[in-house]
Amino acid sequence: LLEARGVRKAFGANEVLKGVDLVVAPTELVFLIGPSGSGKSTLLRCCNRLEEPTGGSIVIDGVDLLSPHTNVNLMRRQVGMVFQSFNLYPHLTALGNVTLALRKVVGKSRAEADALALAQLDRVGLAEKAGAYPSELSGGQQQRVAIARALALEPKIILMDEPTSALDPELVGSVLAVVRDLRDAGMTMVIASHEMRFARDAADRVLFLDQGLVVEEGTAEAIFAKPQQERTQRFLREVR
Ligand code: ATP
Ligand code: MG
Repeated sequence: LLEARGVRKAFGANEVLKGVDLVVAPTELVFLIGPSGSGKSTLLRCCNRLEEPTGGSIVIDGVDLLSPHTNVNLMRRQVGMVFQSFNLYPHLTALGNVTLALRKVVGKSRAEADALALAQLDRVGLAEKAGAYPSELSGGQQQRVAIARALALEPKIILMDEPTSALDPELVGSVLAVVRDLRDAGMTMVIASHEMRFARDAADRVLFLDQGLVVEEGTAEAIFAKPQQERTQRFLREVR
């Protein structure tokens, strides 16, 4: 579904992705782990062209994301993105945040957009908070609104960048439960996270990045129980 090959990204002289492959099959849940600055966020951002890669190819559901002929806005609808800091509009309610793109980008009527948005808010357990503003919601609830917003556009794949790392520990569980439900429903997802326990429990596959390269990849079992590379072993020792 997502086939990124040899992805490179440089900021000036600083090459932060040095030829990374990220291949994700339908319904797969892939975790990106690795030290701060290893390039996890940059890789995710390249996959919907929030960053322009300086090399490599990215194909999503058969469409070349980097081709000049590709409609980037259409592609972005198919690649949902969830950020660490939720990025909700503070002046819009939960419902308003979820319906915004449905109305402005997809062109749904208000009634249609409201119905679709309510269904997604219900899916993340927040139907009764539809009228609440972000400031009236906990961090976990805000993040679930952000997930509902991504889901409302019916993406083929959802990329999440540290979806729980801005949350108080007691709020992390509600977001992880939603991710687990999505996985069980067959949603394809790539998640950059420092939540090692969750990666270990939930991931189909784990990629360990260090200094812009995939150092090691494998099943959660393989990476966490018997990492082969010294750098992976050291990282896992340090974060545990
Ligand atoms: P973390 O775990 O802290 O989130 P990360 O693995 O997500 O780290 P990235 O955010 O992808 O790492 O950053 C990789 C490198 O790219 C870092 O050295 C960072 O300083 C650099 N970088 C990222 N974005 C930019 C930018 N817009 N301009 C210049 N350098 C950048
Ligand atoms: Mg990051």
